[in-house]
Amino acid sequence: MSRDFLNKRVKELKPSGIRRFFDLIIGRDDVISLGVGEPDFPVPWRIREEMIYSLERGITSYTSNYGLLELREAIAEYYKKFGVETTYENVLVTTGVSEGIDLALRAIINPGDRVLIPEPTYVSYEPLAYISGAEVIKIPTTPDFKLTYEMLLKFKNQKIKALILNYPNNPTGVSYRRKELEEIADAVIELDCVVISDEIYGELSYNFKHLSIASLSGMEDRTIILNGFSKGFAMTGLRIGFAIAPDDILDGMLKIHQYSMLCAPITAQIGALEALKNGEEELERMRSEYIRRRNFFVKRLRNVFDVTMPDGAFYIFPNISETGLSSEEFAEKLLLSKSVAVVPGNAFGDCGEGYIRCAYAVSIEKLKEASDRIIEFVESL
Ligand code: PLP
Repeated sequence: MSRDFLNKRVKELKPSGIRRFFDLIIGRDDVISLGVGEPDFPVPWRIREEMIYSLERGITSYTSNYGLLELREAIAEYYKKFGVETTYENVLVTTGVSEGIDLALRAIINPGDRVLIPEPTYVSYEPLAYISGAEVIKIPTTPDFKLTYEMLLKFKNQKIKALILNYPNNPTGVSYRRKELEEIADAVIELDCVVISDEIYGELSYNFKHLSIASLSGMEDRTIILNGFSKGFAMTGLRIGFAIAPDDILDGMLKIHQYSMLCAPITAQIGALEALKNGEEELERMRSEYIRRRNFFVKRLRNVFDVTMPDGAFYIFPNISETGLSSEEFAEKLLLSKSVAVVPGNAFGDCGEGYIRCAYAVSIEKLKEASDRIIEFVESL
């Protein structure tokens, strides 16, 4: 027997519930996939054009570890839109929010530090927190999917290091208005912890304007904002995002980033700068289309399910418990009998059992066909 070289915590990680499920549909053209959390739009043309032009000019070098100065300045300016006053000095350009999550956790966590993760939630937080050495504590938020002051205050005096907050939320689409954020902020201050605020769907907030929790009184020095260009600007494959954090935390994140990543790809940074300078019109076009799809899809599925109207992102999270099937059974049977792929809700945490996640980042025609098939499927049960 050869030696076991694998890190203990890595060995214990479970593969993502989403990936496992999607292995089932590889190579099947008949399937309508509502599974992937990715815009169906290409990167807006003017952004692509700017990147192509930079390549033609041979701009392909490393950048500063922090990212291009002009981009950092543009990001600091951009975040005023979400209520935050900052400068380029507190901005780090990252290789997507994914890297930002990893950097934030590794920069602040000592072995055994406690991290709160409200669920259902995006699949990366728990594994990355675990690898960073944290003790993860999950907070179920069903049935409203809203984190409250009371839920947080239960952890008072329990030495919580960080809360990972994502709004608008993947997979539920729930977001928070100012008043609700203020209550969360009050609890965070009482717990004396940091918030890692994943605002990647901030541009896709439909019912009210997105506000960053960092903008609230007492939060500036304890919030790590993570955001990026994958969702709002449809730039997933370019792998570009950013963090805005207090000086000491940003320094810590930079130390890891400079050794593990060096810098975010320059072509994507140039695209991101163009997105911030001239991308508003395209962003608005995509946002309106998501709203149209959301309204259409929620209305259709309300014929058979209890569906909460999402505030943002591009997911709905219907309750399927009345069918008597578990989330996984439902998703698997729907795929096999009607060729529609959705993600079982328990992939986003145990309390997601009884739900499925459907992404509406597909055309209205596909949503119409998919909802017909889902309704037929439920009625046949
Ligand atoms: N955060 C959330 C909540 C997401 O849903 C996703 C992607 O689905 C990410 C982060 C990853 O973002 P990025 O493409 O910027 O790495």
